[in-house]
Amino acid sequence: MSKIVFFCIPAHGHTNPTLGVVEELVKREHEVWYYSYSPFREKIEARGAKFIACDDYDTEQKLDAKSATRLGKDLAFSTHVLVETTLALDDMVMQQMQELKPDCIVADSMAVWGKAVALKLDIPFVSSTTTFAFNQYSAKIMKQDMGQLFGMIFSMSKINKDIKRLRDKGYPVKSVLDIIQNDNDTHTVVYTSPEFQPCSETFSDKYSFVGPSVRPAVNEIAKTYDKLIYISMGTVVNDSLEFFKSCIAAFSNTEYQVIMSVGDIIEIKDLGDIPDNISVQKFVDQISVLNKADVFLSHCGMNSVNESLYYKVPLVMYPQTREQEGVAARVEQVGAGILLKKPSSDSIRETVEQVMNTPSYRENAAAISEGFRKCPGAKGAADKIERLCNT
Ligand code: UDP
Repeated sequence: MSKIVFFCIPAHGHTNPTLGVVEELVKREHEVWYYSYSPFREKIEARGAKFIACDDYDTEQKLDAKSATRLGKDLAFSTHVLVETTLALDDMVMQQMQELKPDCIVADSMAVWGKAVALKLDIPFVSSTTTFAFNQYSAKIMKQDMGQLFGMIFSMSKINKDIKRLRDKGYPVKSVLDIIQNDNDTHTVVYTSPEFQPCSETFSDKYSFVGPSVRPAVNEIAKTYDKLIYISMGTVVNDSLEFFKSCIAAFSNTEYQVIMSVGDIIEIKDLGDIPDNISVQKFVDQISVLNKADVFLSHCGMNSVNESLYYKVPLVMYPQTREQEGVAARVEQVGAGILLKKPSSDSIRETVEQVMNTPSYRENAAAISEGFRKCPGAKGAADKIERLCNT
């Protein structure tokens, strides 16, 4: 029996893919501790891990909803939040890890405090990467040149100041690149397939592309029209009232059934009249909707895209952050969707119809789905972690 510690940032998209791995490790009779945040306690404990709350140390939890939408859009701001959190957690985590002496630490690629403590205490370490693995080759394919990723040049001095604060505390980070980039020396689990990961052949054999962990559809969604269009901007950057209004205008009183998930920030009443063929909710059972959908108009969060392709649903992509632009670029390359050029109602309707009426988009989504279903999944990730525990 081994002792394994997980660290994650407070985001569903980064937490969800790890839950199956936790469950598998617990099933194999290992002890698992999971450092996370109160909103995630229930689902982490449900998989059998011991939950440890980091809320008091976290800067992101204290942001209001509007500031939270800057994360991922504004690199200087995101780095600042990350560094603040890392430094606040440092003493508590170092002390507890020295007492617990885990056999392996598994940390989300953004939870830099996990990697740092593993390096400082020489504990075997696995990076858990819930987006694509990122190096100079995959960055190019994802149309994310380094300049773009670093945002405007003006934010660089602010970023570097924050990075220096980490170095002063003994963290081995030279630049912000050490935080966002995956390196070939670190054991890494990536929750996508080798076929969907751009340039998977350029990563070392320390990488395991285990595939997405997509939960099964449990509810039956009633189809009221022949075609079902699903629209969501995800759970984080979804302050998109005008866009949602354009979607309503695009499909008002058409022969399509539309299900739209609008998130917590906007008020549904501010959308005005909603016709009968359109259902608007703050949160939906996305998996069950995708199980029946013909097309997904999505912000291209990695989980939404994985889930969509797993259920063979082609996409119309309307990314809101650099990361989402990278994922959208990859969907476009594999021919499983089209980028939305403008968020006007005409453009939305035309693009959605083009995807629904051209079979190749669905066929290409189905090809990726087949690759996903062949991946080893949570069991493959657990095998890798077990191997490291025994080194
Ligand atoms: N989700 C859901 N219902 C909704 C909206 C989102 O179940 O109405 C889930 C979705 O299935 C996915 C996650 O929330 O697993 C969103 O993650 P993603 O990486 O796509 O985007 P983010 O919300 O992190 O921007």
